[in-house]
Amino acid sequence: DQSVCPPLPVLGRDVRVPLVTGGEVTYAALDYAASAPALQRVWDDVAAYAPYYGSVHRGAGYLSQLSTELFENSRAEVAAFLGCRPGDQVVFTRSTTDSLNLLAAVLPAGCRVFVFETEHHAALLPWPAGHVTVLDAPRSPRQAVEILERALADRDPHGPALVCVTGASNVTGELWPVRELAAAAHAHGARIVVDAAQLAPHHPVDIAACDVDWVAFSGHKLYAPFGSGVLAGRADWLTRARPYLAGGGASRTVARGGDGGLDVEWHTTAARHEAGSPNVIGAYAIAAACKALTEAGFERLVEREQRLVARVREGLAGVPGVRVLSLFGDDAPRVGVLSFVVDGWNSSHFAAALSAEYGIGVRDGLFCAHPLVRVLLGGERDEPGECGAPDGERSLNAVRVSFGAGTPDEHVERFVRAVGELV
Ligand code: PMP
Repeated sequence: DQSVCPPLPVLGRDVRVPLVTGGEVTYAALDYAASAPALQRVWDDVAAYAPYYGSVHRGAGYLSQLSTELFENSRAEVAAFLGCRPGDQVVFTRSTTDSLNLLAAVLPAGCRVFVFETEHHAALLPWPAGHVTVLDAPRSPRQAVEILERALADRDPHGPALVCVTGASNVTGELWPVRELAAAAHAHGARIVVDAAQLAPHHPVDIAACDVDWVAFSGHKLYAPFGSGVLAGRADWLTRARPYLAGGGASRTVARGGDGGLDVEWHTTAARHEAGSPNVIGAYAIAAACKALTEAGFERLVEREQRLVARVREGLAGVPGVRVLSLFGDDAPRVGVLSFVVDGWNSSHFAAALSAEYGIGVRDGLFCAHPLVRVLLGGERDEPGECGAPDGERSLNAVRVSFGAGTPDEHVERFVRAVGELV
């Protein structure tokens, strides 16, 4: 009920776009999984702070002190939002991709990495070649745990290991059994990082309760602007490794060494991996988004989003020839991210028609998860051309609709009507 929990005001909510059929309409942003519109509240908070920003950890002046305090408070805000344990670190990065590459750079020697083939490329590709075990796509959450347990049982139990798994799929929106996977990983002496790029904007994350070692997410999917991300979790691997970026800010002391080189003492805090002048506004914006979601009542936002998910699923189920993609089946819990194919349609053309005729912005393609889309559509559709083969229905791509805290009911209703009319 909108009167109980209205959509949160976001930027761009009043943008008008022209339609090929004539006239114009308010743009319906239904591609939150790529980048969600920033919350108006975040924008306002950033605008209020922007005139005062200054260098952090460097200046003696008032604005530098103020900025340093706000930057460090932003870390604390994010830690609270994620349910971090005492001693966990929150490292500000550029994005989820950057966060996972950072973790890849600090892996202990010989670390074996386990990933399901269903991951986003950001979670599939950063790991050192030759040290990755790719696991088959499971067909249920329970099977995911079984597959992982089997793979971990087969590994050398003495070496370090890391499991990297998505919290919510950027293709199907399905939630993964993070808590159970973490328990399985730990039972076999492995660590686990959760790619929370699609989880954090749609579902509360609780690092401590789920007992995961790290989570990674991006600000631009969590209703903050582009340019900042987070890796949060256990400090030990982070503090033992050489900095991801070496330079000022990461080092505590630097001196000429006796051997003609340099003696460097690196920081043991999150600053160790944040060399250079950090994205202070980006960090502040992420923290503002965390705060805004918490204050709006994240549970209520989730409840409302679930109502929209149910409406989209019901709407699509009523259109002949539309198939919603799923690994775990109809009953699997999912966030506001759904991909589908339509008989007789190339998905690129379908997405283009939604934009041109209805002012609806969705995404089509393989969503940087090529192996997963092959599992979901393989054998049924041909390999893709550059952006979907021109032969219509036989291309390996799908349409993705995604939404969240800023989505009005009207956007979802327009989408459901548009799919029906186009088909
Ligand atoms: N993981 C998932 C599940 C994603 O959906 C995305 C973005 N599509 C990423 C990682 C990468 O995020 P970013 O592009 O912000 O680094």
